[in-house]
Amino acid sequence: MTFSADDGFSTRAIHAGQEPDPLTGSVAVPIYQTSTYAQDVVGQTRAGYDYSRAGNPTRTALEAALASLEAARHAHAFASGMAASDTMLRAVLRPGDHLIIPDDAYGGTFRLIDKIGVPWGLSYSTVPLGDLDAVRAAIRPETRLLWCETPTNPLLGIADIAELAGLAHSSGAKLLVDNTFASPYLQQPLALGADVVLHSTTKYIGGHSDVIGGALATNDESLAEAFGFHAKSMGAVPGPFDAWLTLRGLKTLAVRMERHCDNAEAIADLLTGHPRVGRVYYPGLPDHPGHQVAAGQMLRFGGMVSFTVVGGQDEAVKVCERTRLFTLGESLGGVESLIEHPGQMTHVSVVGSSLQVPNDLIRLSVGIEDIDDLLVDLRDALG
Ligand SMILES: *Cc1c(COP(=O)(O)O)cnc(C)c1O
Repeated sequence: MTFSADDGFSTRAIHAGQEPDPLTGSVAVPIYQTSTYAQDVVGQTRAGYDYSRAGNPTRTALEAALASLEAARHAHAFASGMAASDTMLRAVLRPGDHLIIPDDAYGGTFRLIDKIGVPWGLSYSTVPLGDLDAVRAAIRPETRLLWCETPTNPLLGIADIAELAGLAHSSGAKLLVDNTFASPYLQQPLALGADVVLHSTTKYIGGHSDVIGGALATNDESLAEAFGFHAKSMGAVPGPFDAWLTLRGLKTLAVRMERHCDNAEAIADLLTGHPRVGRVYYPGLPDHPGHQVAAGQMLRFGGMVSFTVVGGQDEAVKVCERTRLFTLGESLGGVESLIEHPGQMTHVSVVGSSLQVPNDLIRLSVGIEDIDDLLVDLRDALG
């Protein structure tokens, strides 16, 4: 069996890097649960593997599949999205460099840059990336990296990837896009000019809330080499079983994403105009400020919906605790629906900073259950 890079998205998700095992014909990629590899002659490996921190065949399969989904020449898998983020900072930046991050960046990203990057010698500015004039004004001579999330977490803000790539490149900076919320099925930033795509594969790519992982994908040879070198040197690599679980999850990414989008659209409709709901944040809604840009760069609008409730923080907390099917919990992107209060859960680390989120905000990760059940659950919880 041969698979081609021109095959469609789902075909690549199922076959890229996942040819039947040459030795046994095993259709599922084996879990190569080993730390080391026998050599027949000193210094000569049988298949390029000498030690599993440097490389492991199950991880190689995952990396080939991830690269294929982002239409990238290279992808590196990491132990978590944060490990991928840390690798990106250290591989691309040096003490004294400046970077620009979204003013509603993922809380963990903000914490990494603020609490670890700054003591290491980095400086940063937080900017609403939807406002290109603000981005232009924040660029300094020492700016080396523009860190973009679109859609953002938890406010679902949209940034124009192609415009940001132009701005970054005209000032000698790189553009990274954290593509966790969209997944490669809905959005492929490298094709829009980004230099690096970052994923928390914990979310939609893994898709089943059972594994933590991260990835960096790029077409830039020297960046890819730096990522590989840092992965080997710093050691934040996924184990074989985690790589295998992620690989198992990503095979169904396309069908899951279609259903996530169907369900999220129906829920955004329910929330819009509901008397107990204030504002609804979903890029698929025509009145969302980033709707046009999202429609231009995304296939559909994703499975994340945020909204504010009438009655402030106390009522928001009660709604989160009242749902039957939406599980109260952090994270996102799994088959099961989740509900959370960012102000007291995922975004505690940004309280008091410029990234603080409204305290009456609720974030939904809309799963792939039957939509009628989800709609009843939310309607009941809102009261
Ligand atoms: C979860 C998440 C991360 C961090 O990934 P982990 O796998 O939890 O380390 C980074 N960016 C975004 C947008 C996320 O949602």
